[in-house]
Amino acid sequence: MTQIAHNLETLDLQIAKAAKHSKRDPDTIQLLAVSKKQPHNKILAALSAGHRHYGENRVQEAAERWSPLKPEYPDLELHLIGPLQTNKVKDAVTLFDCIQTLDREKLANALSHEMEKQHKTIPCLIQVNTGEEDQKSGVLPKHLDQFYISAKEKYGLTIQGLMCIPPANSPPAIHFAFLHKLARDYGFKHLSMGMTGDFDKAIPLGATYIRVGTGVFGAREV
Ligand SMILES: *Cc1c(COP(=O)(O)O)cnc(C)c1O
Repeated sequence: MTQIAHNLETLDLQIAKAAKHSKRDPDTIQLLAVSKKQPHNKILAALSAGHRHYGENRVQEAAERWSPLKPEYPDLELHLIGPLQTNKVKDAVTLFDCIQTLDREKLANALSHEMEKQHKTIPCLIQVNTGEEDQKSGVLPKHLDQFYISAKEKYGLTIQGLMCIPPANSPPAIHFAFLHKLARDYGFKHLSMGMTGDFDKAIPLGATYIRVGTGVFGAREV
């Protein structure tokens, strides 16, 4: 067994354990293997191990990596988990199966037009800046209501849930709990939260997508 296959198996067990503890069905928690800045042989190892759900945070890098692989793996699911610039929307809509970082009107508008053009409906999650950090993207919690309504009604987007990246210097569970409460208020199906260091805390708080990079592939290339 490769190291990657072993890591994936260990993560599956950890997810199952955390799910059991919190009386959740483990099948409602999807591990997104975050493949950004990882060497190609590791991606191929994860694919050989049968893993089909991946997260990438840059459109260009993701397109170079995954466009040639997509035809070989029809059940592949690619999630965009990094900021999306409007000039990359065309490539993003071509490549991804879910956009987790919807965070502004201009992007909602561009995505809506591009999906119409490509005759595609790609589900989106709204990124919420739960820590209200200046440098971080995401909708401020106080603007979520208005943004959600306009993304859905004005731009016709399919909004399936919320995503957050907690501040580095704050206990993540506070942010997960906050996002969980918001998602419940809105009746959302998906919550994307938790990374290698804190997914065990995100699962009891309702995470349906956990985004794990180093835990699957080891340290990233710099
Ligand atoms: C890189 C990245 C991850 C994965 O981080 P790890 O600590 O390696 O698990 C998760 N989410 C986002 C948004 C990322 O950019």
